[in-house]
Amino acid sequence: MTVRVRFAPSPTGMFHVGGARSALQNWIFAKQQGGVFVLRIEDTDAARNRPEWTEGILSALDWIGIARGSYEGPYFQSSYAGEHRAAAQRLYEGGRAYYCDCTREDVQARTGPQQRGYDGFCRDRGLEPGEGRALRFRTPDEGETVVVDLVRGEPTFENKLIEDFVIARGDGSPVFLLANVVDDMSMGITHVIRAEEHLPNTPKQQLLWDALGVKPPVWAHVPVVVNEKRQKLSKRRDKVALEAYRDEGYLADAMRNYLMLLGWAPSGDREIVPWSVIEEEFRLDEVNPSPAFFDERKLRAFNGDYIRALPVADFVEACRPWLTGTGTIVPPPWQPDEFDPAAFAAVAPLAQTRIAVLSEIVPNVDFLFLADPLIDEAAWAKAMKEGAADLLDAAIAAFEALESWDAESLKATLEAVGAERGLKLGKAQAPVRVAVTGRTVGLPLFESLEVLGRDRTLTRLRAARVRLV
Ligand code: GLU
Repeated sequence: MTVRVRFAPSPTGMFHVGGARSALQNWIFAKQQGGVFVLRIEDTDAARNRPEWTEGILSALDWIGIARGSYEGPYFQSSYAGEHRAAAQRLYEGGRAYYCDCTREDVQARTGPQQRGYDGFCRDRGLEPGEGRALRFRTPDEGETVVVDLVRGEPTFENKLIEDFVIARGDGSPVFLLANVVDDMSMGITHVIRAEEHLPNTPKQQLLWDALGVKPPVWAHVPVVVNEKRQKLSKRRDKVALEAYRDEGYLADAMRNYLMLLGWAPSGDREIVPWSVIEEEFRLDEVNPSPAFFDERKLRAFNGDYIRALPVADFVEACRPWLTGTGTIVPPPWQPDEFDPAAFAAVAPLAQTRIAVLSEIVPNVDFLFLADPLIDEAAWAKAMKEGAADLLDAAIAAFEALESWDAESLKATLEAVGAERGLKLGKAQAPVRVAVTGRTVGLPLFESLEVLGRDRTLTRLRAARVRLV
């Protein structure tokens, strides 16, 4: 039997990192089993779905290595409404479901507000279908439902504790629980790998599989992803959108490696490993069922490691969208006056060791690509204290006289200028750095000046000097 898995996101918002993690786990499992990965967009909630969210999911999947065209689908759940209704009808005709006209208030009036769930009032009333009548599944009174779950063993649910749940609403439309099962069934899904939050749905869904006469899939409920307060990552509170990480300059390789560590680890006490190792070593039955901490700080450090490990040429290429103001980044980042690839290539190795996410490249090198540096006024106030004008005058004169405009000569020159004034190099550098780059911190100064060039450096130093008059 060919293994068939699916990733079944609902396009109701940005693509959640927890979803990306489940998608990758499905993807790897399918690959390991020589199986098929199916993408199904669960778009039946018309009020909450938007086409751009679907596009966001497709492009984010593509970004982390689940490329369009390399999987089956996307299928759209909304296209199968006929099948969902037919399944509901079959369950009704076979006596496995019944119509119910109870309102929530009716149920509460009978059971009291404490009791949760439906009391079975309409079970044997033999109601015909009709407007406003929901269709409920008749759950077995006895026995238990054992879910075979690769992550959680065999969670067992007593059937008598499972209420007669709704499978189609009063307007006839099937609910998520049923649509999801019917699609899995018709798409031949053998393994359902999804987030833990769906575990409570699983006994109900398995009962539906049984009632529809098809062998249920093997399940794997992977751990919920939480923040540092052990709260489930939420759109409103936490940074959860994969797109946001992408646009901030996380590398896809770092991101997918990190996502796979949520609840699992490769052999040998390693965390940063090539994707091929993860693809080989990952095992669903090794996934820890406890909540997995999504540690943004760790991810950031991780990304920095990945950035440093890039060949310089790849680093240069990876930074391009941030530096040229082009590409898919939303919102578009800073715009250069003129981007000079050779100048960037010259400083790139210096920047590569200093940044943790690619967007941080901008404040490090923007001075090279702007007609005038962006002066940070706080930095200016700090650096341009007493003596700055005198130091700048001396530096301008000494730099003008330099024969060779290279980092080493520039350093020796400024060192001498500083020494004459009893200043250590660090102190002498500060006004020069702020005049030229606009900031107090940045790439090594003399390499920066070398790349910026004599004319532009001197123009900026003179402009700063004028401002100090
Ligand atoms: N559409 C569901 C969700 O986004 C997925 C359900 C499933 O994987 O079975 O949570």
